[in-house]
Amino acid sequence: MRLVCEGDVALLIGPRDKRFVVQLRSGRKLQTHVGEIEHDALIGKAYGCRSWSHLGKPFLILEPSVHDLVLLDIKRKGQIIYPKEAGYLLLKMNIHSGCRVIEAGTGSGGLTLVLARAVAPGGRVFSYEAREEMQENAARNLRKLKLEEWVDFKTRDITPGFDETDVDALFLDVREPGLYLPQCCAALVNGGFFGALVPTTNQVSELITALHLGEFGDVQVEELLLRRYKPVPQRLRPMDTMIAHTGFLVFARKIVPHAFTIEHDNVSESSPKEGGSNTNFSDVPL
Ligand code: SAM
Repeated sequence: MRLVCEGDVALLIGPRDKRFVVQLRSGRKLQTHVGEIEHDALIGKAYGCRSWSHLGKPFLILEPSVHDLVLLDIKRKGQIIYPKEAGYLLLKMNIHSGCRVIEAGTGSGGLTLVLARAVAPGGRVFSYEAREEMQENAARNLRKLKLEEWVDFKTRDITPGFDETDVDALFLDVREPGLYLPQCCAALVNGGFFGALVPTTNQVSELITALHLGEFGDVQVEELLLRRYKPVPQRLRPMDTMIAHTGFLVFARKIVPHAFTIEHDNVSESSPKEGGSNTNFSDVPL
């Protein structure tokens, strides 16, 4: 049985599914729309129990999931990567414990949190951000969750390139990701996973054009739509509102220049153009 301890970051779910993520400190109170809850009334209870506000309203005490932490705990200073994309990209980019992963920019640290939880222990996240105040906020967010030990925060622009080489995966959440593909190639291991999120279709076109011209193969473009339902058995139906658009995900793999044509020199459409490195294999089964 897991007991609620002082210093824990806990999830409280109150009436009408109002959710709060709180770091518990003896002597403090949580103010809610249905009354106050004393942290001392929660500390020492078992996770999964109920507690009551001073107005007698029930609250469920749970350990927060990464999903809860990203949506409710991260102090946001800009757009974050939503859990639906963050969770999916972990699978698409094969990010797991022990992996070395680069991300840029750090932003509020929404994705950094997810990456840090995935690569720990033994792995590392190298998180680049041009703006100092953004990265300080992200580092605070990660420190509160005791996840900063898996992250190297690097406060600088990625234009000159990354410090690391042979990383397993690299994710860009910056305005014009296509501008940084040579830097990404230099940092990724051969066959390594590239990913990016862009909010508009013209940005997708720009990025996949650049990927096709660069040393990348297996280019994929995807969009994820998530519809939540009201969990009422007698009146089961979708929620009234949904997050209609977050961004488009673009994935690719770093490939060895011309490696494909050396082994398959009868496939003329993928032959490199003279003097160039055209590796547009998007419609060639690799
Ligand atoms: N993925 C982050 C999250 O989940 O919280 C949000 C990233 S935010 C949309 C984009 C960030 O990229 C901004 O904070 C911006 O300062 C940073 N950025 C943009 N261009 C950059 C560059 N060339 N080098 C480093 N950081 C950059």
